[in-house]
Amino acid sequence: MSQISQNLNIILSKIREAEIKAGRAENSVKLVAVSKFHPSEAVIEAIGAGQNLFGENRIQEASAKFDEIRSKGLNPELHIIGSLQRNKVKEAVRISSCIESVDRMELIEEIEKQASKINKNIEILFEVHTGEDSKAGFTSEEELAKAIERCSKGDFPHITPKGFMTMAPFTSDKALVRKSFVTLRNLREKFQKDFPNLDLCELSMGMSGDYETAIEEGATIVRIGTAIFGERVY
Ligand SMILES: *Cc1c(COP(=O)(O)O)cnc(C)c1O
Repeated sequence: MSQISQNLNIILSKIREAEIKAGRAENSVKLVAVSKFHPSEAVIEAIGAGQNLFGENRIQEASAKFDEIRSKGLNPELHIIGSLQRNKVKEAVRISSCIESVDRMELIEEIEKQASKINKNIEILFEVHTGEDSKAGFTSEEELAKAIERCSKGDFPHITPKGFMTMAPFTSDKALVRKSFVTLRNLREKFQKDFPNLDLCELSMGMSGDYETAIEEGATIVRIGTAIFGERVY
């Protein structure tokens, strides 16, 4: 068995253990295999091992890689997880099913514009800044509320908001990491109550170093790179 499929098996069984420990239903947590900086061959190997959902954070790299993979008749699903410039939105919409890193109103407007051009429906997650030293994400709850409200009113017919994403701070302080996950879960609960016509079910949180904690705190999506594909060479 290849290293990647061995790693995948280990991660999937640890996810399952964490689900049980947290009293969560089996398969209530989806795994996004983060393939950034790894070649198409690694993704194809993971697909061969049964993984079909991937995450990339740089659009140019993702386009080249996933166009090549799809030209081979494979059809993996792709989530965009990295901060997105406006001029990359068109390409992001073309290659992905979900943009997890939506952190400002301007981006939502551009996603709608590009998705409507190709008549595609795309899912988004609202990325929220929950940790002291992570820079990405909505920082103002008011701005976030405005964005969700416009989605709720039907301003963006080609966009389906599905929930929230966050990156915990890079720290060995487990309490701080957990606090960031709890913050996201509480936000989800609040906004789901405020906007009952939306289905804000997803909580994308947890990476290689902290996904078990994230699952305990309610993650429905974990984004794992290093523990599957190995260290990235930048
Ligand atoms: C790279 C990345 C991950 C995966 O990180 P690992 O520590 O390699 O598991 C998860 N989420 C985001 C947003 C990333 O950029």
